[in-house]
Amino acid sequence: MAKPKVGTYGLTGCAGDQLVIINCEDELLEIAGALDIKSFSMAASGGDEDCPLDIVFVEGTVVQPEDERVLRWLRERAELLVAIGTCAVWGGLPAMKNEMRPEELRMSVYGPEGNTFQCVSPRPLSSFVKVDLAIPGCPVEKEQLLQGVASLLHGDLPQLPTYAVCTDCKMAEYPCLLVEQGWLCLGPITEAGCKARCPGYGRPCIGCRGPVQDANIASEVQVLQEKGFTWLDIQNRLWTFAAPAESLKIDFLKEGANA
Ligand code: SF4
Ligand code: SF4
Repeated sequence: MAKPKVGTYGLTGCAGDQLVIINCEDELLEIAGALDIKSFSMAASGGDEDCPLDIVFVEGTVVQPEDERVLRWLRERAELLVAIGTCAVWGGLPAMKNEMRPEELRMSVYGPEGNTFQCVSPRPLSSFVKVDLAIPGCPVEKEQLLQGVASLLHGDLPQLPTYAVCTDCKMAEYPCLLVEQGWLCLGPITEAGCKARCPGYGRPCIGCRGPVQDANIASEVQVLQEKGFTWLDIQNRLWTFAAPAESLKIDFLKEGANA
């Protein structure tokens, strides 16, 4: 059977997810042997830039018109498009100030000199094109990435967690930083998959994997308000990694919040 033709591309982002692929040192030769890698800009220059692809891995967010053009070009070429990393899946850090207009934000950071480049409000890849598989994480977890590649090679889509970080935290018997210690922890509403890494180090979850399916945002906000956090504290934390997520638009709770 012919090896699947694969491309890995980065839009605007930090390239951390592509770095995770390169850091799969023990498995890299096996991966390279199982795939026909046509393009991987982080690892090698050149590549076949026009061939059809079976699978394309895309990292980063659309923050400028050129990103959108590249994304649509990749979608046209690929049978399956996999969004890797929280920027690609949820908008990530580039979208954290999406309540400001892009021109306003650009001016506040760069001043009038910033006019030399165009920008748009950063949004997840799925708001532009069909995404077949979304693997969140900042960066993605190596095991989930390998699981994804293995499943795709067998013609399946991997089963990713549909439960929250809290579940793994409880399983590991870490003390609860939210209930017991009053930290602003987003573990109850964040997708699992990192083995509750931050609570394991005594640090609260800041939601870097984006919201879990059916996250109960209202309940999380209520608990945080009871702990004394302000509306701004809560909003800033919720929108750090997934500002465009509709589930995190909690304006309806703003009224009465202790802003
Ligand atoms: S520390 Fe955070 S992740 Fe762990 S149980 Fe408490 S709220 Fe959940
Ligand atoms: S605990 Fe939360 S912030 Fe830490 S790695 Fe996991 S999802 Fe990200």
